[in-house]
Amino acid sequence: MLSRRGFLSGLGAASVSGTLGGRGVSASPEANDVYKDLGVRTFINAAGTYTALSASLMPPEVRQAMEDASRHYVSIPELQEAAGRRIASLLGAEAALVTSGCAAALTLATAAAVAGSSQEAILRIPDTTGLKNEVVIPKGHRFVYDHAIRNVGIRLVEAGSREELHASISGKTAMLFYLNNVANKSPITREELVEAGKKTGVPTLIDAAADLPPVSNLTTFLKMGFDLVAFSGGKGLRGPQCSGLLLGRKNLIQAAFLNDSPHSDTIGRLAKVGKEEIVGLTRAVELYLKRDHEADWKEWEERVAHIVSRLSDIDSVNAERFVPEIANEVPHAAITWDPKRIGLTRESFAKALREGEPRIEPRPSPPEEPRLEIGVWMMEPGEHRIVAERCVEILKRSRV
Ligand SMILES: *Cc1c(COP(=O)(O)O)cnc(C)c1O
Repeated sequence: MLSRRGFLSGLGAASVSGTLGGRGVSASPEANDVYKDLGVRTFINAAGTYTALSASLMPPEVRQAMEDASRHYVSIPELQEAAGRRIASLLGAEAALVTSGCAAALTLATAAAVAGSSQEAILRIPDTTGLKNEVVIPKGHRFVYDHAIRNVGIRLVEAGSREELHASISGKTAMLFYLNNVANKSPITREELVEAGKKTGVPTLIDAAADLPPVSNLTTFLKMGFDLVAFSGGKGLRGPQCSGLLLGRKNLIQAAFLNDSPHSDTIGRLAKVGKEEIVGLTRAVELYLKRDHEADWKEWEERVAHIVSRLSDIDSVNAERFVPEIANEVPHAAITWDPKRIGLTRESFAKALREGEPRIEPRPSPPEEPRLEIGVWMMEPGEHRIVAERCVEILKRSRV
């Protein structure tokens, strides 16, 4: 366990509390005191791994690894190389790099494809004059994080079919990009993109940030032939929130690192990872591989089943289990109700959960009415019971 003083307590709130302050479950006393000191309310995460909701909580072993890392000086290049070697050997990758998030991994991968290891080009980007500066992306794969790719000064070229993909590749193409979480509705399959990359010698990158579990995804895309694979460290892996993982070919990973902090005059310098994140993510990967994923799944099923069964008794309310088809592929609960009988909208339901005690944050789901989604996988043990009772209470008192 984390020592009482905790590695974050330097923020100002030295913890003295020895109790859980009435919550009974959930956040450690240290964390609660840090946030209380700032007047910020913590919540039960009934959402999932959302960056703006601070994503995931690290297991005690990861917190301990970060605490240990924070106590000594090391050479960051030496640490990055050693951590990369460890992670790569665990995952059967040629090489690996710990980044400050999946978004940073996308930028560094693109920089590696555009500037490579050329010192002149590394210093010059995002000015890509005279360099390969186009990235081909299937139609429907443009997304909020493609800014991380565009940062490198490239132009995104959209391809709507396998034929268009091949026709889009030219002497200016630096990289082919694939967003895994739209694979089920993509005009181009992962295999077709990999094939096009291999045929033309253009590196391929897949963003699989939020696609753990299943644990197999840590190796699936490399086996499929992608040259680079990017994951978030702070989502399903439960590493430090500000960590990410870039896996792939040795020459590209080496180039990504040359474009990265701690090298000062690089595009990656604004995405610094510290020794704590590097060590923390390495530990998180080791732990994730050893986890009993079946037991996790069973626990999530039980949480969802409990919520569903508590809510099914209420007149005009329906609760059911669902699993998102791709990304965050774990059991969730969806609550729907008859708005003529229960005077709630998605937003007023969420607001009531948010304003209660303890505060509860539901899944920021699409604004389908009337429907509220509950993610159980980032809850601390026992919290699903609190969430179920609060939902029952809010639904019952909103009867019209
Ligand atoms: C969350 C997410 C990212 C960004 O990951 P960070 O680790 O927060 O930088 C990128 N791509 C996708 C698909 C994501 O879901």
